[in-house]
Amino acid sequence: MTIKRRDLLTGGAGIAASMATAGLSTPAQAQSAVQWDREADVVVIGSGATGTTAAIVAREGGSSVILVETENHTGGHAICSGGNVPLGGGTSVQKKWGIKDSPDLVFQDLTDWSVVEPNGAADYRFNDREVIRAFADNCAATCEFLLAHGVVFVDKAPDKRGGTSVGNSIPREMHAAPMDWPLIQTGQPAPPDKRTTMSTGNGLMHPLAAAARKAGVEILLKHRMTAIHRETPRSGPVLGIAVDNDGKTLNIRARKAVIVGTGGCTSNVNFRRMFDPRLTEEYCGAAGQPWSTQDGSGELAGMAIGASLWGLSNFSAEFGDAITKPGSVGAQYIYVHLRWYPGSEVFDKARAIGLFVEDWQDLVLVNMIGNRFYDETAHQFTAGNYQSMLPYVPHNWRNGRDLKFNPNGFLDAALAGIGDGHNGGGPIWAIFDADAVAREKWKPKPPYVDHDAGFFFTADTVEELAKKIVMKYQRVSMPPENLAATIARYNSFVDSGVDEDFGKPKPLYKIAKPPFYAGWATPVPHDTRAGLRINGKGQVVDMNGEVIPGLYCGGESAGGFSLHGLARATCQGFIAGTNANAEERRA
Ligand SMILES: Cc1cc2nc3c(=O)[nH]c(=O)nc-3n(C[C@H](O)[C@H](O)[C@H](O)COP(=O)(O)OP(=O)(O)OC[C@H]3O[C@@H](n4cnc5c(N)ncnc54)[C@H](O)[C@@H]3O)c2cc1C
Repeated sequence: MTIKRRDLLTGGAGIAASMATAGLSTPAQAQSAVQWDREADVVVIGSGATGTTAAIVAREGGSSVILVETENHTGGHAICSGGNVPLGGGTSVQKKWGIKDSPDLVFQDLTDWSVVEPNGAADYRFNDREVIRAFADNCAATCEFLLAHGVVFVDKAPDKRGGTSVGNSIPREMHAAPMDWPLIQTGQPAPPDKRTTMSTGNGLMHPLAAAARKAGVEILLKHRMTAIHRETPRSGPVLGIAVDNDGKTLNIRARKAVIVGTGGCTSNVNFRRMFDPRLTEEYCGAAGQPWSTQDGSGELAGMAIGASLWGLSNFSAEFGDAITKPGSVGAQYIYVHLRWYPGSEVFDKARAIGLFVEDWQDLVLVNMIGNRFYDETAHQFTAGNYQSMLPYVPHNWRNGRDLKFNPNGFLDAALAGIGDGHNGGGPIWAIFDADAVAREKWKPKPPYVDHDAGFFFTADTVEELAKKIVMKYQRVSMPPENLAATIARYNSFVDSGVDEDFGKPKPLYKIAKPPFYAGWATPVPHDTRAGLRINGKGQVVDMNGEVIPGLYCGGESAGGFSLHGLARATCQGFIAGTNANAEERRA
């Protein structure tokens, strides 16, 4: 059978461009045309929270499993994460601490349309009920699965602490302890006194990778899925995948099913701009990079064989941490809860640790043309959830009515641009002086800052500093007189004690003592909140609402579920692995 290229690109030019960005080939040869190089019952794509969980479950269920991972290490964003895992529904951990929970309460929480952030965005209103029911019913079992596979949670009562949109009206969140595993951020184990008390994704993903290997999952590193093979481009079962391994293409047959656990799309500019056109190239420091990249390859490969996307409103809603204020400045990767140190195996790609900001009074933030745009001390996440609406009454409109409205427009102002008709806010620069360096006890040199790649500059005058800011995302020059005027005006606010422009609470420090510095401080993409349409079994569904036989998905590449992170991914991996294993093996 001959497949015409146009048949593969029904998603249009935008999808073709996104596929190119993600390095995907156009897929879907007919079965007869595929020469299979390898085979297994279940083929899993991605070794993060979804994929590793799914692979273990399927393998222990009796299936042979090949797991392909594009990087030369496992773990995905999950191993970079804070390891805060909000799995509830009546877990043994909740019972131990006397917390009463049930699948029905999990379902109620995650479908509560009345829960809104202080900016009015609804965390759970647009969640798909079938997807949430499956999550609620498998939540506790997923927790027990993690415990049975070597994950150690910090020995204290679950809480409602981490992240945003975690869906906890009661305490559910546990914290994975690193124990003796090396931290990928440093290459070293955590200090002895923190090994059982700190929370980190290392404590979740190192044990799971070890459990997968022990169970007999074959993990192929540096194998990048480039296409999903289906019997025909728009019909029949999924048969396997194509991968690229160091420039060589291999076809891996799946006798039962393929599971997509590729982790979302925040790093694919064309893909993410389908949800928010402002997210142009300069947002180049996604959280979790450079350990792994959310390039949308799973979604695109699924769409190329007819899969639907789902729950798109969840991605564009301005809640949670889809995009965040940075925590550090002066380097490309500056997500607030993640720093890369020279001992890390990806430090050559990260290039710098960044200067962690203790006090945002120590600097001003300016846009590409040297203008301030907001109160630098403003908080990064909106995080209303249940806590902000006490007394909380489930599914009652008064929850929102009683909330104090807080637009928290920091990110919107940063992403607003310079009024020249372009999308995207352009680079944001932290401007500070020698006194700020002393107050923060910073060392403004490598390995803390990244001069060479253009994420950090220094000069003896503010005007010279503006002239020096030349790098690939700075598409217009910063007018030196603008920056000088901005700093002079800000210094006058320090004298008067009032920020007349943006209401920074009592500006404290002048920017006056050379040398002067400019450090990259551009917002950081984080979560993907929409992806392939799945049903309650984790099966991928097409544009006609029909299941694509033999294709499963979970985690950040799956849609219909607004919930930050690890609980969603591990639980959906658990569901997909269980159901893929139960498929009939094809001859
Ligand atoms: C810094 C940070 C902190 C976080 N903290 C928390 C937290 O405390 N609590 C919480 O709940 N959530 C947290 N999260 C979110 C959480 O880590 C993610 O939601 C979760 O890891 C998503 O799981 P996933 O399986 O979908 O993707 P991932 O865990 O990212 O795994 C995807 C894997 O697929 C691989 N892959 C991608 N494309 C291909 C391809 N074409 N071929 C082969 N392999 C491919 C990737 O390399 C990666 O290894 C955090 C995230 C980050 C980045």
